[in-house]
Amino acid sequence: MKECIFCEIISGKMPADFVYEDDEVVAFHDINPQAPVHILVVPRKHYSTLLDLKPEDAELVGRLILVANEIAKKFNIHNRGFRLVFNCNRESGQSIYHVHLHLLGGRIMMWPPG
Ligand code: 5GP
Ligand code: ZN
Repeated sequence: MKECIFCEIISGKMPADFVYEDDEVVAFHDINPQAPVHILVVPRKHYSTLLDLKPEDAELVGRLILVANEIAKKFNIHNRGFRLVFNCNRESGQSIYHVHLHLLGGRIMMWPPG
């Protein structure tokens, strides 16, 4: 069975343009950016969807947001504004089944999202 692409990136088997790494969380540029800044903030541990998260994962999920905030500051989009998105399952458009938080910024965002 083929390994998850994001697990391969996290283990170093596949290249990615990393902007952040710690013991639990990594972040790298999206390969197909939808905004001038489009970074994926990803737990090292594999969860297929948000629905696999357990109460004991609450701190980790909070850390994904805190890391995204720091990256937004690093790319100087924090004051202009940015968007954080989790897609979950088919109708949301989830295409990679390893939980990840999209950090999007550097342009005006539309609402409602498409
Ligand atoms: P999803 O649609 O699951 O919420 O988001 C998956 C994201 O991963 C997409 O924005 C897609 O462009 C990105 N992506 C897919 N494959 C790769 C890859 O191999 N490397 C990187 N850096 N991003 C990827
Ligand atoms: Zn994975």
